[in-house]
Amino acid sequence: MTNSRPEDVEPIPLVIVQGFLGTGSWLWGNFEQYLNHGRSSSPRRTIFVSVGPVSSLHDRACELYYDLVGGTVDYGEEHSATHNHARYGRTITLGQYPEWSPGLPLHFLGHSIGGPTIIKLQDLIKQGHFGASAHPKMIFSVNAVSAPFRGTQAVYVLGERADSAPAVHPLSFGALVGKGVHILSFISPLLPRALDLHADCRSLTYRDISFSSLLKQLWKSDWAESRDATPFDVTFQAADERESNAEGDVDPETFYQSHAVRMTRPQHLEKVEAHIPSMRHVTSPLMYILSRRLGAFDYSTLQPPPSFFRPHNSEESSMGEEYWANDGVVPLFSQWHPLPCRRTRCRHVGTVVAKSTDKDDRFHEGAPRPGIWYVNQEDATHMSIIPLWTGTSQQQQFWMKLGHWLRAIERDRGF
Ligand SMILES: [Zn+2]
Ligand SMILES: [Zn+2]
Repeated sequence: MTNSRPEDVEPIPLVIVQGFLGTGSWLWGNFEQYLNHGRSSSPRRTIFVSVGPVSSLHDRACELYYDLVGGTVDYGEEHSATHNHARYGRTITLGQYPEWSPGLPLHFLGHSIGGPTIIKLQDLIKQGHFGASAHPKMIFSVNAVSAPFRGTQAVYVLGERADSAPAVHPLSFGALVGKGVHILSFISPLLPRALDLHADCRSLTYRDISFSSLLKQLWKSDWAESRDATPFDVTFQAADERESNAEGDVDPETFYQSHAVRMTRPQHLEKVEAHIPSMRHVTSPLMYILSRRLGAFDYSTLQPPPSFFRPHNSEESSMGEEYWANDGVVPLFSQWHPLPCRRTRCRHVGTVVAKSTDKDDRFHEGAPRPGIWYVNQEDATHMSIIPLWTGTSQQQQFWMKLGHWLRAIERDRGF
């Protein structure tokens, strides 16, 4: 294994980690042409990883690691005992990047919960979950779009109980998704790979359980209504628990950037706690309703209260509009980075558009530095930059700018 990358080999690949229900690359379109813009030879390879589309951050991070290096997915002895599922998952005969090591690191891009999945992966590596040979600097860069690092009120709007998560309101959208997951898991041996739910460690197929057990799960799901599934992991309560364990602290050798987007505007200029969707961004009635509900969310209904919550009459500084501004699924503040600004290193910049003619990759003032979150903000919806490719100039600019950024930080580290 070498510790340096010869000039004539491919650039460091970009691993793409998708969000809730995300699977396959079929929505992503022609993005690679723009990612590799201005590159005459050796295009950057992109690797779509296969992780549980409804699984917890912990389970997804474990699946992500073994999807890259190969081997049998190990969820950890303590974790699997706590959450009552098998310790080992499927065996991946050949990983997508078995050479992954500190000398041969990878870039990561996460959409939605793909973002916190990458943060969880780096945290598990730091804790030694994957053994002594894994090092946090194997993650050269973290790039996130619309990521709910600090949770989202959408999960309560869709059915999670505000006073007793992970319980779910029956007949809510969230409960229906949970039932759908159980039905798909039950018949999964008959389904195409595109519907892979990564439920191997949970014994939920018709080969493992009886029909009456399935009915029991449809009545009350041991998975969807547990602390070991996506819905609970995107509650503010779960995010606060992660942050209290210092999960999300930056690694001094990794580069970080996020794209925080919004599709709303303040309803009244003098009142921050009411945001409404801008009509030019509304593409469906569901998105309109969800964005509006997020924009008017009453944080005082949550039990326990989130760490950032300040009541109206509080003497402490009040909450800013970033708690109500949203992209239709995630509030703006949560998309910035894990941890409050005062507890991490960050630099928030406005809309920065990379010009395609720009020869200088260092479009941020000064060279990008590791160990700092660069937060970019722009107007868009949860799906309109990635993953739903429609070929807009905003999407083209996003990918070109990302390609420039990756090259700039590689040069910075002598890669
Ligand atoms: Zn688990
Ligand atoms: Zn910040």
